[in-house]
Amino acid sequence: MKIVILGGVAAGAKAAAKARRILPDAQIDLYTDDTHISYSACGLPYYIEGNFEDYKLLLVRSPEEFEQNNVHIHLQNRAIKILPSSKQVLIQSLTSPEAFLVDYDKLIIAIGASPVIPPIKNVNLNHVYTVRKIEDGIAIREKAEKSKNAVIIGGGYIGIEMLEALVKQNLNVTLIEYSNTIMQTFDDDMSQLILEQLNFINEGRFNILTSEIATEFSGDNEGVKSVKTGSGKEFPADLVVLCAGVRPNTAIAVEAGIEIGVTGAIKVNEKMETNIKDIYACGDCVEENLLITNSKIWLPLGTNANKEGRTAAINACGGEDKFMGVLGSAVTRCLSLTMSMTGIGVKMAEQLGIETVFAKVSKDDKVGYMPDVNNITLKLIADKKTGKLLGCQGVGAGDADKRVNTVTSALLAGLTVEEFHRNDLTYAPPFSPTIDPLLNAAQILISKLSKS
Ligand SMILES: Cc1cc2nc3c(=O)[nH]c(=O)nc-3n(C[C@H](O)[C@H](O)[C@H](O)COP(=O)(O)OP(=O)(O)OC[C@H]3O[C@@H](n4cnc5c(N)ncnc54)[C@H](O)[C@@H]3O)c2cc1C
Repeated sequence: MKIVILGGVAAGAKAAAKARRILPDAQIDLYTDDTHISYSACGLPYYIEGNFEDYKLLLVRSPEEFEQNNVHIHLQNRAIKILPSSKQVLIQSLTSPEAFLVDYDKLIIAIGASPVIPPIKNVNLNHVYTVRKIEDGIAIREKAEKSKNAVIIGGGYIGIEMLEALVKQNLNVTLIEYSNTIMQTFDDDMSQLILEQLNFINEGRFNILTSEIATEFSGDNEGVKSVKTGSGKEFPADLVVLCAGVRPNTAIAVEAGIEIGVTGAIKVNEKMETNIKDIYACGDCVEENLLITNSKIWLPLGTNANKEGRTAAINACGGEDKFMGVLGSAVTRCLSLTMSMTGIGVKMAEQLGIETVFAKVSKDDKVGYMPDVNNITLKLIADKKTGKLLGCQGVGAGDADKRVNTVTSALLAGLTVEEFHRNDLTYAPPFSPTIDPLLNAAQILISKLSKS
């Protein structure tokens, strides 16, 4: 059995390791155009921030470790064409002019996503970075350590994490976001709250501009020097980080006749099979099933990539496994503020034609006399017709994310708010008030539902 895997970060590396455990005698070859495999892209902002000195801590498993287990890793080798009729892949070496065909019995595509490069004049100047690969992290940190001013383009979760990283590197940071708020995966009121709370904890260390478009980078042979915006402002910049979103890598799949889903990512079934026999796909290049609504969504997250890589490998090796889908759970942090969500919010529910009722509470996360007490705001959302929970969003300096995590199980079980309210949550003063804010929110939601 010849298993060929394309891409080797989260999904590809997971698939390779799992396949090796299931089929000790299979020939497994992993081709990647990258210089590293099996690394934590999620950890890049924390490396840049200076939390640890050695970037190698981001590497989960080395090519040598894979080779010891007889998994052949081919770094800097890009798959440029898939030929399903002959069950081959055309590989282009990036270190020599050589291109060659490899045969497969089972092919696992795990080629991920790439950063979007926004149409800004002089975007190719030196010291304008994206943040995706190990080299990006090393280069940004090196430059940040000897710089004064940075500009971040985009206020999604990577932009927000980079804001923390560069502020902690003592830079003056300007974040430019073209829409009217940041962190737009949240409902608008929660995004607005995130913006307000970040401005509150700012202490003059950064500047977040919304409804502002970066139009031009100015600089010289050395690199970028400033960023100009559509409204005529100009900000000094020794470095710029582009955090304008990511796109699934699908070109070679499309060319091979592999079906693309409604989200623009590769379409797969629960076994991570594509429409072409013996070709599987997983990770950031595929779309997911959103469990709450049974609709399609593209959620390029490391947690999904790992689970999907595992499922793809089990099935490619002749086993039976299903990845049923995602709830849309995510969490991040910027300085002392945490932001987390699961399920769908009011904004997405409206887009899907679902009528909602929600309750929002702002409370202490622990008993008020505890020294580390902090405020959290929770928004709990339910389906107006059925009373079933749809989602939860949490923002605050305190422990909002553990409340949001509690809701994930309720969503999986399809609980109504009434049923969820019977939840026996833990209590002691260092952990929560006597009645947890999440149950306060559920109580308010029950009463709102009964009146709606
Ligand atoms: C800064 C940052 C922070 C993040 N934080 C979080 C987080 O906190 N939590 C979370 O869940 N997720 C997070 N993510 C997302 C997470 O890192 C990704 O979801 C995950 O890396 C996806 O893994 P993947 O293997 O599917 O794809 P990728 O990581 O994109 O890897 C794909 C690999 O395939 C290679 N490749 C592409 N095309 C080809 C080709 N034609 N031939 C051969 N090789 C190819 C690429 O070079 C790459 O090495 C973060 C991402 C970033 C960038």
